[in-house]
Amino acid sequence: MDGAVEVAVACAPPVMVERGFPAYISPLMSTPSSGFSHSSTSSTLRPTPEQIEQQARVLASGSPEDVLRWGLSTYGKDLAIASSFSLEDCVVIDMAAKIDRQVRVFALDTGRLPEETYMCAERMRMKYDLTIEWQFPDRIPVESLLREKGLYSFRDSLDNRHECCGLRKVVPLNRVLASLGAWVTGLRREQSVTRTDIPSLEVDRDHGAIAKLSPLIGWSWEQVREYAQKNKVPVHALHDKGFPSIGCAPCTRAVAPGEHPRAGRWWWENPDSKECGLHPVHS
Ligand code: SF4
Repeated sequence: MDGAVEVAVACAPPVMVERGFPAYISPLMSTPSSGFSHSSTSSTLRPTPEQIEQQARVLASGSPEDVLRWGLSTYGKDLAIASSFSLEDCVVIDMAAKIDRQVRVFALDTGRLPEETYMCAERMRMKYDLTIEWQFPDRIPVESLLREKGLYSFRDSLDNRHECCGLRKVVPLNRVLASLGAWVTGLRREQSVTRTDIPSLEVDRDHGAIAKLSPLIGWSWEQVREYAQKNKVPVHALHDKGFPSIGCAPCTRAVAPGEHPRAGRWWWENPDSKECGLHPVHS
């Protein structure tokens, strides 16, 4: 393993950085016990796509905490966790908050979220003392859509569904990501037929070639639950009512035992189309 990269994974003390480690390895690394100091990362110091890819190869065999530690020490406040308050996202927040208690968290309020999501968000906010950066859709296009097509146009066609997800999710997400150097997701490979090939760290070429971290990518649902139980992570109430995947209220239903975890998302659609544009899949 390359020495410089090894340091990034192992979270080495600042003195090591002076020996010519790459600029993208922040000199202000920390440990959970010492408390985190944010790096002064700016866009000019962000890792290049090639450096992210190099680091991704190293982190491929690392733990979720290794991935988060690298992200937090490299990007500081230039990194944020995207949360829908699914158990995966809550576990990622727990892990990250133990490395940096000031970790940034943002959430998309589509206007159609279930009440249980707000309740879970509030529990997370209080437990980890988070300032959740809620993001709302632009008012005018959403109002126009509802006036022209009604409240449930997304049931009528895939185009209409993408139109709604575009306005309520994709545009607000793009707005946030345009200001970040890295974002963190709770994606796992077993969640979808379209997510089988994702690494724990990648270059997000759909969002300006920033870094996209998915620390739980290789974890099973059982591993996520076990971690949550052991670490007393708040659990979204819908998970215990048969919802393995959480989304907008009118587009998510409970699944039957043995059904695919994402069978309850846009259940009226073909499984191959079950993405909302937040995580585009390229063949
Ligand atoms: S999940 Fe449904 S309600 Fe939510 S943005 Fe997409 S189509 Fe609209």
